[in-house]
Amino acid sequence: MALIVHKYGGTSMGSTERIQSVAKRVAKWVRAGHQLVVVPSAMSGETNRLLGLAKTLAPAREDAAVQRELDMIASTGEQVSVGLLALALQAEGVPAISYTGWQVPVRTDSAYTKARIQSIEGDRVRADLAAGRVVIITGFQGIDDAGHITTLGRGGSDTSAVAVAAALKADECLIYTDVDGVYTTDPRIVPTARRMAAISFEEMLEMASLGSKVLQIRSVEFAGKYRVPLRVLSSFTPWDIPLAEEAVSGTLITFEEDEHMEQAIVAGIAFNRDEAKITVLGVPDKPGIAFQILGDVADANIDVDMIIQNVARDGRTDFSFTVHRNDYARTMELIKDKVQPATGAAEVQGDARICKVSIVGIGMRSHAGIASAMFRTLSEEGINIQMISTSEIKTSVVIDEKYMELAVRALHKVFELDVAKPGGVSEAPISG
Ligand code: ASP
Ligand code: MG
Repeated sequence: MALIVHKYGGTSMGSTERIQSVAKRVAKWVRAGHQLVVVPSAMSGETNRLLGLAKTLAPAREDAAVQRELDMIASTGEQVSVGLLALALQAEGVPAISYTGWQVPVRTDSAYTKARIQSIEGDRVRADLAAGRVVIITGFQGIDDAGHITTLGRGGSDTSAVAVAAALKADECLIYTDVDGVYTTDPRIVPTARRMAAISFEEMLEMASLGSKVLQIRSVEFAGKYRVPLRVLSSFTPWDIPLAEEAVSGTLITFEEDEHMEQAIVAGIAFNRDEAKITVLGVPDKPGIAFQILGDVADANIDVDMIIQNVARDGRTDFSFTVHRNDYARTMELIKDKVQPATGAAEVQGDARICKVSIVGIGMRSHAGIASAMFRTLSEEGINIQMISTSEIKTSVVIDEKYMELAVRALHKVFELDVAKPGGVSEAPISG
């Protein structure tokens, strides 16, 4: 017998018929002898509908008093879905009880609309499980110290499910969703992209630009921190597929020392078009210049991702960095109005038509030459690299956005990601 947490997204909960099929799937796991806690989202479209109602009455969303009510309103979507699922399970002959976040309780800080979970009380849930009930807990919501209802931010039910699994020390947390797992890259760009049977937490975090479409990335951080084995799997399989098959489907997000890990050196190719590049040309090459440029940017609460500074010529140098595209206009303005006059920079250039492409893999730690294989591949395709950054398990480049698909396809091929690798027997253990 295992203690399993299931999380169902809005699509799975989208109608009473779909809720019935969720109930049948959960009942299958119960009949196989497992204890089940289920964390569902609101019915699809419901959170948008609720927040839309609120918007007609409260245009000023930054106001704390308004934000409190937004959470009060948005949290009701999940309250409806847990109750409906409990009814559907009872109709299946499976004892079930539903709880809201405050009944458990799921304690959070007071940051309305983006609260963070602080602790989850497990006693009540454990008592129900021991009494043979399925426990259904609202995703997305909690309660702060003063008793106000909070929500965790859009997509927050994934984090709720992982937090519940961590608090109860569940054996596995299964996230049923509308994709059937995590792929080596986006299959819409590379049709031969392969679903990974397993990926490490660290890789999954680096693959965020792809992974965030699958999972709220905070839930992965949480799972890594509390060592909760996570599985992303399809909610579109028929509910009555054999449990043994369902239990190993999708992608397991796990620890690198786990024997299930594949031994690919590069696990996947991530990319995003969310960044823009700013170059400050002809700044004096002297101590403090990076601080002078980026200090102002940081003070404006703008996150900087990649940074490069060129070698100086005649006492002057060029300095480039990237910011989120949403911050691009604001950053350009700041640099032109403040930084350029203060530093005497000759010119400021901006380019929002860039993209970042990354190769990700824990095997890169112990294998030299992976980054250079990436650079060679891009050069063979005639793609100019504008910026490079590396970490232990990732190499990222900034290129012109019009070459993004070409770059992703070429790298996917070079690193043989569409060819299934044999299990991890042929290589020495990877050391940190
Ligand atoms: N219902 C919330 C949302 O739509 C939370 C979730 O679905 O994860 O964002
Ligand atoms: Mg979701």
